[in-house]
Amino acid sequence: MTKDKPVQSAPEAGQQPTQTVSLVEGGERQPKPPYGHLSVVCGPMFAGKTTETLKRILWAKNGRGQSIRVFKPAFDQRYARLQIVSHEGLAADAEAVVDWDQRSQTMIEESIDVVFFDEVQFFESPNFRGDILQIVEDLLAAGIDVVCSGLDMDWQGKPFPIIAHMAAKADEVHKLRGVCTVCGRPSTKTYKKTGSGGQIEIGGAELYESRCTIHWAVPDLELTPDLFYGR
Ligand SMILES: [Zn+2]
Repeated sequence: MTKDKPVQSAPEAGQQPTQTVSLVEGGERQPKPPYGHLSVVCGPMFAGKTTETLKRILWAKNGRGQSIRVFKPAFDQRYARLQIVSHEGLAADAEAVVDWDQRSQTMIEESIDVVFFDEVQFFESPNFRGDILQIVEDLLAAGIDVVCSGLDMDWQGKPFPIIAHMAAKADEVHKLRGVCTVCGRPSTKTYKKTGSGGQIEIGGAELYESRCTIHWAVPDLELTPDLFYGR
């Protein structure tokens, strides 16, 4: 048996029927599965992570009728304080948080189905007071599904520890790729135009680009077809 959410199926001969759980069935709320499902949506900047997260939010809320909560780091105020907003302009309400307190217990009591964390790599000190990895574990253990989205690497190519840890533990990892601003091929890296500064510097297209590994490492390299042979 895996920890995947049980699905309805006829028991095979000689097996005890397993308990079947459906979150929405005939308009009535069903019991939660015993353990939540962890999804990670990651990739470089401009790869569509927020759009993918918003799609999942809308599907959970409107398509499946689930009760959801959406959280984002409080200091990420590029677009709107209480929303997550994609570069294309899609939006969903979100709560900007700097600490956690009793939120997990409250959401368990309120039978929340899915919790979303946007820009999860920033849920760490000094921006966030709390252990996000333990918080996610607790939610999963209470049968709440969790979707975490964020950058997998900083502009120097170093993995963000939070998302690296979560990707390892996830039931599903959706790694998105962007389009290299130099050559148009799929990109997995975030390129910082200034090439200086700390690991975290909030910015958009004025500061960052999505690039393939070759143009991230050697920005001005002229390509010949041979350089991409086999990629
Ligand atoms: Zn490129």
